Amino acid sequence: MPEFRFGIRLRLILGFAAVLALSMIAAAVCTGFAAHREVSHIQDEQDRVRAGRIHSALADYYDEAGDWDGLQDFVNRIGFQSEREIVVLDADGVVVADNRPLRRRHDDRGHRVLFNAGIPRGPLPPPQYFTPIMSDGSEVGAVAIAAGRRGGPVYIFPDSHSDEPHDEEPPLTQFTERVNRSLIVAGFVAGVVGIILVLLLSRRILGSIGGLTAAARRLGGGDLSSRVNVKGSDEIAELGHAFNNMADAVEDSERQRRSMVADVAHELRTPLSNIQGHIEAMQDGLLQPDAATLDTVHRQTLYLNRLVSDLSLLAQTEAQELRLQLEHESIVDIAARVVDSFRPRAEAQSVRLDTDLPDGLPLLNLDRLRIEQALGNLVDNAIRHTPPGGSVTIAVGPHGDGVRVVVTDTGSGIPSDALPHVFDRLYRVDPSRERATGGAGLGLTIARRLVEAHGGIVWAESEERVGSRFGFDLPAHEH
Ligand code: ADP
Repeated sequence: MPEFRFGIRLRLILGFAAVLALSMIAAAVCTGFAAHREVSHIQDEQDRVRAGRIHSALADYYDEAGDWDGLQDFVNRIGFQSEREIVVLDADGVVVADNRPLRRRHDDRGHRVLFNAGIPRGPLPPPQYFTPIMSDGSEVGAVAIAAGRRGGPVYIFPDSHSDEPHDEEPPLTQFTERVNRSLIVAGFVAGVVGIILVLLLSRRILGSIGGLTAAARRLGGGDLSSRVNVKGSDEIAELGHAFNNMADAVEDSERQRRSMVADVAHELRTPLSNIQGHIEAMQDGLLQPDAATLDTVHRQTLYLNRLVSDLSLLAQTEAQELRLQLEHESIVDIAARVVDSFRPRAEAQSVRLDTDLPDGLPLLNLDRLRIEQALGNLVDNAIRHTPPGGSVTIAVGPHGDGVRVVVTDTGSGIPSDALPHVFDRLYRVDPSRERATGGAGLGLTIARRLVEAHGGIVWAESEERVGSRFGFDLPAHEH
């Protein structure tokens, strides 16, 4: 199952989505609320104006007729048209017209119609809902007007100014204005909530970045043990891990540099003090500057020379400054040349040199001199550690797309606890014995670096008192 990661990207998406959703909801709620309020406000206003018209129509009726006779028909009609329940009392409080209760139904064509359901009409509306009807300055009756709603009648008081022209703004302008105002409020609220959300969201991110900056400053200031405390698994945590890895690498290379300087100083000291000792002994007349003495001093200088050039080659490979002169080369040719150059030494040491160099191996992009040097170091070691009568075999063969080169000897072998370290810089299995035989513990390190510069790998197998197999694999790909 893929690991779910609550990364910064997801957090940002969720944060923005939340702010957006919140603003939409706030806007919708505010607008809906305002619209509802405004619509019912407008409806009330219209209801009162219509009730006012009914009220003045009744007063006109009385003015014209002089009494309330025949009012029931009139009330039925205007009540039906205006969908209002109307109860009219005369000056003595006697009911003169009542169109209640109105009922709704649908006609044949599906249109909704109102009809007067007739008696029983139910009790009279309470007195406070009646508005007096005036004629010639005296009260001639009273009317109660209601809209029949589901929960019971809702009484409407006539707007006494219904005849006067409204000089207020038209309701629609007011409506848009109020809706706009609530939209602005909604936007403001959503904005504030958004800012709070972003602040909460960014607090952790900025906190982690602050920690990283401080750690980087400490590292830059020379505190190589500076690390960040990584929390979570988001992108910042990844950056924190990358920083810690980088700091590990810096610390490690600094440690290596120090140990290298110490090791090199140590390696140089022995031959130098040998040379110094010989020269001082000659100056004091304790030693004759004869051929043998000079030869000893000369060998020490040769050793020093080789040590210095090995170290400088190693430094180049470590700084990735090694420039390879790549050409299409035959590994068989390279191996044959190396074998030829070691033949005199092998013979002098009574070590047999065998080869297995088949035809038909692919040509590879190689720096001939560097591969010769790497292979030379392996053959040199093998001959050096093989007693007279033993043998060293140099074999090449295909390996994947590339080639494998193997140097097998019947020499002393290497203890299994030392084997993993033989490619380490300045490592020697038995330092006291081996300085005399020539090596400073750089040969295999250099071989490894040269092979790795070609994209290859080196390896070693060994059994004590039986022999060793050192080899490297070179890939076919272009570098
Ligand atoms: P050096 O240049 O001193 O030989 P290397 O890096 O070449 O150093 O080798 C490291 C150590 O590995 C040596 O001290 C040596 O003891 C051991 N070694 C390398 N090759 C062989 C081998 N073919 N047989 C036995 N020991 C070996």
